[in-house]
Amino acid sequence: MAEKDKKILLEARNLVKEFPLSGGRRGRQVVHAVSDVNLKIYEGETLALVGESGCGKSTLGRTLIKLLPATSGTVEFEGMDITAMSDRQFADYRRQMQIIFQDPYASLNPRMNVKAILSEPLTTYHTAQDKAELEAQVKALMKQVGIPEEFINRYPHQFSGGQRQRIGIARAIALRPKLIVCDEPVSALDVSIQSQVLNLLKDLQDEYKLTYLFISHDLSVVKFIADRVCVMFLGMMCEAGDTESIYEKPLHPYTRFLLDAIPKADPKLRNENKELLSGEIPSPVNPPSGCRFHTRCPYAKEICRTEVPPCRQVGERQVFCHFPLEGSDE
Ligand code: SF4
Repeated sequence: MAEKDKKILLEARNLVKEFPLSGGRRGRQVVHAVSDVNLKIYEGETLALVGESGCGKSTLGRTLIKLLPATSGTVEFEGMDITAMSDRQFADYRRQMQIIFQDPYASLNPRMNVKAILSEPLTTYHTAQDKAELEAQVKALMKQVGIPEEFINRYPHQFSGGQRQRIGIARAIALRPKLIVCDEPVSALDVSIQSQVLNLLKDLQDEYKLTYLFISHDLSVVKFIADRVCVMFLGMMCEAGDTESIYEKPLHPYTRFLLDAIPKADPKLRNENKELLSGEIPSPVNPPSGCRFHTRCPYAKEICRTEVPPCRQVGERQVFCHFPLEGSDE
């Protein structure tokens, strides 16, 4: 389906998130975690945010669902600007937007058993008339994510990593949200368990028409789960578009670098087309002028050092580069 025919669930405009550095002269300095992001998430899709560690993808995910306040810019959810809402006004939207964390052990309270963990959101929003109904709802959630109901009184440490993540997923779907931010949900799990959890997420998406913002640094996982991909570098968008076309023909040099870095099973293919980047990842406190990728980009020219690249629309792809790679019709 063409993007113009899809329904927008969430839209960020010129979204900025900065963190002040504390202490002494550094007090006036800020970490530019997310800079001028314009992004749409369509109903029912999985949009993946990808990029190296520290590129701002987790901060962007949290800012989009108002777990972190935006420094400037807006986020609209179903056409309503949630950035301008008070906590009270936002309370009704909170249940529509949930998050699954990377480390299921750290995100589950070790002093609460499964019953208490899953009852918490249900009680907050008064979904049950009485205790018996509440317990039935908890058991139904456990069943949906594949945790036997006889484990209802067990504590997080009594489960495996995969089971703990299933409990985290059950907590996220408890209030039937529309959007779930999945922040590296399988990267702490063994590879053998990863596919089971990814399949569970897909099944739940089909059943409840969920929309996912899937944050990951693992491009193999992203290829499996995402309909569209948004690539980030140092707080800014590089490229966004549908997964198949981006994997087939990346137009931004940084996207190509990330895709070339995916480990290949065939040793003959391992070094083929591999672009090796020079230099360290620059600091988000003093990001490079112009294109933030210019200090590492093999194609950088003078204009890249001075001017922020505009958003080029190439078909349904957005590319933020002065000189998109072959395949651009500009
Ligand atoms: Fe490279 Fe210039 Fe494109 Fe940035 S704008 S990715 S430096 S070619």
